Amino acid sequence: MDVIHLLPDSVANQIAAGEVIQRPASCLKELVENSIDAGATDIQIIVQDAGRTMLQVIDNGSGMSPTDVRMSFERHATSKIRQAADLFSLHTMGFRGEALPSIAAVSQVEVLTRRKEDEVGTRLVISASKVEEQTAVATPVGTNFKVKNIFFNIPARRRFLKTNQTELRNLLADFYRIALVYPNIHFMFVNEDEVLFDLYEGSYKQRIEQLFGKGKHSYTNRLVELKAETDLVRIYGFIGKPEDAGRQSQQYFFVNGRFMRHPYFHKAVLQGYQGTLTQDNNPSYFIYFDIAPDQIDINIHPTKTEIKFVDEQPIWQILLAAVRESLGKFNLVPSLDFNREGDIDIPVFDGKQAKQPKVQISADYNPFKENNYNRERITGWDKLFEPLPRTDDENAEAQVMPTISLPPVTDDLPIMPIAGKYLLLPLPDCLLIIHPQRLLASVLYEQILTNIQNRKGIRHPILFPEVLDLTREQAEQLVQIQDDLNAIGFEIDRLSANSFSIVSVPAEIGNTNGVQTLLNLLDHADREQTSTHTAWQQNLAALLAETASQPSGQTMTDMQMRNLLKECIKRKISTSTRNRNGQKMMIAITFDELAKRFNN
Ligand code: ADP
Ligand code: MG
Repeated sequence: MDVIHLLPDSVANQIAAGEVIQRPASCLKELVENSIDAGATDIQIIVQDAGRTMLQVIDNGSGMSPTDVRMSFERHATSKIRQAADLFSLHTMGFRGEALPSIAAVSQVEVLTRRKEDEVGTRLVISASKVEEQTAVATPVGTNFKVKNIFFNIPARRRFLKTNQTELRNLLADFYRIALVYPNIHFMFVNEDEVLFDLYEGSYKQRIEQLFGKGKHSYTNRLVELKAETDLVRIYGFIGKPEDAGRQSQQYFFVNGRFMRHPYFHKAVLQGYQGTLTQDNNPSYFIYFDIAPDQIDINIHPTKTEIKFVDEQPIWQILLAAVRESLGKFNLVPSLDFNREGDIDIPVFDGKQAKQPKVQISADYNPFKENNYNRERITGWDKLFEPLPRTDDENAEAQVMPTISLPPVTDDLPIMPIAGKYLLLPLPDCLLIIHPQRLLASVLYEQILTNIQNRKGIRHPILFPEVLDLTREQAEQLVQIQDDLNAIGFEIDRLSANSFSIVSVPAEIGNTNGVQTLLNLLDHADREQTSTHTAWQQNLAALLAETASQPSGQTMTDMQMRNLLKECIKRKISTSTRNRNGQKMMIAITFDELAKRFNN
């Protein structure tokens, strides 16, 4: 005897519902998404008993014909895709045709709906998948969806629901995730006859403010804008200032209009804040990604929020750079501000302790300019720690710096990365601590400056030329400096008056984002403001070096560390412990000093 038979639809729906509808919040999400897909500009959500007894979603969207509304409760009935290929050009929130049959399988549903071309609308009542009534009614254009007594027919699941307080929190969490993506839709959220939210249309920023601002306390004043635009992905949004980071912060990622969780990208954001957060404190962020649909896995399960990207690594980098840039732009991370001293001094315990010799910090000091420093006397690493020329005052109090000779950078010279950002070299007579990022910036600076002056920049072609849309002012500025840009390896075509295409970038910055770098250059390098052409070229080199030396998020390999040190010796950069902004690149602790500190 054959034993296999097909389950009746009502049973199949109930099983499917178990996956799609877990709590009132899942109903809210599915219904509101349907309203958005139906083109609604006004959506009202009304809940009673945290959605347990009643959850209603009223929209002014397209509405449904009498046949369609009946059809919409069939499993896999959808108006949103017709064939598998449509999945790759999806522009709706839903596409599976599972939500309505699932909701109807576990509750009592009443729908009122009317299309604008119809004179009368339809009322449909379904209880536990069974159609109880379908009649013509007078109702406004749009759809009014009421879900009553969720899980009334599955007591086990009903018992599984949490307290009203928790379920309301779940409802709101799902509501925020949608409201944050559609600031152009008017949302109203009514709980037990109390209007919790009445969100008028506006910008993303205004929507965030409406949701999280409290009375007179502006929320968005404590956020900074984030922006990155590349061929692969467009990232846009807001991030919180480090000092406002806390345990209760708001963290949202959205991709193509959908909320997502992404622990890996979360790490990129945190890394961008590196050094500015105390443990356990998280910054708030609202970050929106736009990406070609074929770059993400669209087979998104309705209750899952993790989304897979084809190319996660580059997006991670772009995100990290974008976070750093916005924090840096707003001077929120001191170490990013190259004009400020980001000291890493060893703590001085009292006046009697050995002091690091003080050196004069001059803003326009350039160790590579011959007349700034008497290079003849320096033969290389052996005079590594000879201090810079000082004023007499400082001379008096500064101690004489011992000279330390660094052995050649061989493969077995010990180099230890410490604290995730410095290198420690135990040398025969001292401990040397290096700030590799600053050293790298100095090496690149020299390299790029030489390239500008010799007009010999090496070009790094961009596989997919990036388009740069500028304001008129920026465009004029770009044309003015194009000569020097060409000299260092940029190749920029003018597409129209204000639109340019970046065909190649200097090899030194090959791995960074060309558009971003150029915009940065235009922002900071004002040719008009620079007195001489040489000063301007130095300015340009410094900016590029700064961009290219930003940590990539990857740790340096042993080989890279050694090459960097070798390059420094070659270029005699190591003859100064400070970079051209006066920031320390190295610190040496001599064994004498150690002995003094230990008093032994
Ligand atoms: P999906 O959204 O995956 O297509 P659903 O079960 O959520 O599946 O909805 C089934 C169909 O019902 C949708 O494709 C749509 O045509 C129609 N529909 C559902 N809700 C609405 C609404 N609020 N306004 C207009 N049409 C709707
Ligand atoms: Mg749907």
